[in-house]
Amino acid sequence: MNWTPSRADFDTYMVPCYAPQQMIPVRGEGSRVWDQQGREFVDFAGGIAVNALGHGHPALQKALKEQADKVWHLSNVYTSEPALRLARWMVEHTFADKAFFCSTGGEANEAAFKLARRYAHDTFGEHKDTIISFRNSFHGRTLFTVSVGGQPKYSQGFGPALGGIKHAEFNQLDSVRELIDERTCAVVVEPLQGEGGVRPATQEFLEGLRQLCDEHEALLIFDEVQCGAGRSGTLYHYMQYDVVPDILTSAKAIGGGFPLAAMLTTDDIARVFTPGTHGSTYGGNPLATAVGLAAMETIAKPETLEGIGERHALIVEHLERLNQRFGLFSDIRGAGLLIGAELNDAWQGRGGDILAAAVEQGLMLLVAGPNVLRFAPSLVITPEEIADGMARLERALEQLTS
Ligand code: PMP
Repeated sequence: MNWTPSRADFDTYMVPCYAPQQMIPVRGEGSRVWDQQGREFVDFAGGIAVNALGHGHPALQKALKEQADKVWHLSNVYTSEPALRLARWMVEHTFADKAFFCSTGGEANEAAFKLARRYAHDTFGEHKDTIISFRNSFHGRTLFTVSVGGQPKYSQGFGPALGGIKHAEFNQLDSVRELIDERTCAVVVEPLQGEGGVRPATQEFLEGLRQLCDEHEALLIFDEVQCGAGRSGTLYHYMQYDVVPDILTSAKAIGGGFPLAAMLTTDDIARVFTPGTHGSTYGGNPLATAVGLAAMETIAKPETLEGIGERHALIVEHLERLNQRFGLFSDIRGAGLLIGAELNDAWQGRGGDILAAAVEQGLMLLVAGPNVLRFAPSLVITPEEIADGMARLERALEQLTS
């Protein structure tokens, strides 16, 4: 089709569940992106924590091109070498004994919730079906995952609510103690809430959840879709807490930009997913898992993981400087390269304005709700790119305050 689309065509042809920015990116390299007019952008958004190695990373391009010459898709009637290689890698580098692959974070969580219910059903009986999750959490957009998620706006208007789900307060163990009982089959938590405002769990909270789950024979599920796969500075975020879940979901960064997600678990739990109980046509797709292995091997390199701390410190330093000049933030928090800067009273609700002003100055940024600026750049972004992006953010703030 010899036609150059424009942003107006989005409104003509696309279901309006998104409101994308005006520019249309056409090319990316490292932490820089260019739009149709050749304007350059610094990328602090990383495709919402997906492009952990930036755009066009040579190791990912090589893996994709090599696999493209071999076989693209088989379905799960046949297994594939790339899926088996990635599964083995995951098992060797995490608590897990088994991996299930799918394509999105929501799908990985859907699998986790179904597995938890099935495990409790088969092991303890039908009564054990309740999932406890947390207010402000986000677990995906399927009906099950919006119902488990702790933001009612995402489930309202979609018909009868799913039963067997309770919401407690994040980082408040007592609120879990009040809800957990012999009917609880699982507690699901993001060790670092992403969409809910970039809020890290405390050590006592995760340790307490582990203990409560053990006492009530409930499974502990960590949703590391956003904070996992290197993002927080360790391969998975749970490793920093030394609290091991029974099920872990991973997506976004594990495919480095190719749709890929995984649910990881133990042998004992995995056994209830016998042939036919669950599945996904694209799960373990050879292209996705070949790229996934290259992404995970590159992310797990000591030089990648060790560089995250310095980049975190640099971004926080820049944000503190901007805060001194503009008086913007009441809190700067997060871990590794998932950083949230909460807007103070004077800037309430202005996250979207700042994002739009940043785009005008050549910076791709994210928000987490209307009051938190979110930074999720490539894990290998250079100090120069960070400085350049921050200078653009500074110009955007000058524009908004002048
Ligand atoms: N869980 C978490 C913690 C997420 O941040 C997201 C996406 N932002 C999801 C699940 C859903 O992932 P996906 O959009 O790939 O379905």
